[in-house]
Amino acid sequence: MALKLYYEDAYIKEFEAEVLSCKKGEKGFEIILDKTAFFPEGGGQPGDRGYIGDAEVKDTVEKDGEVVHICSGEAGGKVNCRLNWDFRFSNMQQHSGEHIFSGITHSKTGLDNVGFHMGQREVTVDFNGYISPETLDEIEDETNRVICENRKTNILLPSPAELEKYDYRSKKEIEGQVRLVEIEGADLCACCGTHVKLTGETGPVKLINAENYKQGVRLTLKIGRFALEDYREKNRSVAGISAALCAKTDEVLPAVEKLKEKLNETRIELNNTKIRLIETRCESAGADFPAVIDGDGDSDSARIAADMLAEKFGTGFGFSGNDKDGYKYAVASRSGKAREIGAAINAALNGRGGGKPEMVMGSLKASKEEIEKTVKNILQNGQ
Ligand SMILES: [Zn+2]
Repeated sequence: MALKLYYEDAYIKEFEAEVLSCKKGEKGFEIILDKTAFFPEGGGQPGDRGYIGDAEVKDTVEKDGEVVHICSGEAGGKVNCRLNWDFRFSNMQQHSGEHIFSGITHSKTGLDNVGFHMGQREVTVDFNGYISPETLDEIEDETNRVICENRKTNILLPSPAELEKYDYRSKKEIEGQVRLVEIEGADLCACCGTHVKLTGETGPVKLINAENYKQGVRLTLKIGRFALEDYREKNRSVAGISAALCAKTDEVLPAVEKLKEKLNETRIELNNTKIRLIETRCESAGADFPAVIDGDGDSDSARIAADMLAEKFGTGFGFSGNDKDGYKYAVASRSGKAREIGAAINAALNGRGGGKPEMVMGSLKASKEEIEKTVKNILQNGQ
């Protein structure tokens, strides 16, 4: 088994090694070295990337106890190996930040971390119970205080007897040697990942979302440079909203609420105007032609007009649209004949639609003249 350099020193970025085997696999060449600083995917932490000689390491996984480097090309003999350090260091920050946050959450609420996922730009952690917004604020404050105090991370490899004395967090039963990661005064957790030496290297930890998940809560964290990037992006977005609304950045929320209220009032006003317009149109309709044909309405206007006219004449017709695109139509009948009338309209005017005996709605393709003629015909035929 290869010597795992990342456990001796998580800060090794470059090293010399010997290729023990290199064979073609499903996802690329699978290279095994005599020693490696490439961390294989595990404990929620992604596998490392970088270079072995000229071959690009796309992923690192553990297979049957061996660290396997998935590479784009072949390598052999003595090789110089380089880690993608930005990627790895960011993972160390994510992992350490998550430990501090979860340790403090556990000691404050008694809840356990029951799920952990390290995404491209954020970390999600699941806890088995509800946490109030106030408590989450306290946890976030405490997490960032521990980070600023630049506390040490210690790796402990206790014997089974020693292990029994420790009160540590663990997601599952572990076989063999247990590796405990201690962040002084903040957390003690069994973990196989890589972590920063001093908490200050983690950078800021910001909680950006809390949602109900299964029987508990799922929290989304932005850690290190991702917290900064998130802040930058949100700052730009708020500045844009602020400029668009002519409101100060700390007053955008009340400004948006006011805008929403105004929009709602305008909607109500517009609707009232629409109804008044339909009423005016209905006034010019008579018992011989209880119909409104308008060129600027929608199916809703047609329905309202039909209903208003039916109230007055027993039967009412509403048409909204134009000769080119066709019309939306509605028929209202207080004597329950709307379906028959609708069927006659569909047959005469290339229409489709249906509904209840009191009201049918649909669309048709015909000219205004054809509509007028059809309505008159239907009424003359006694419907
Ligand atoms: Zn860890």
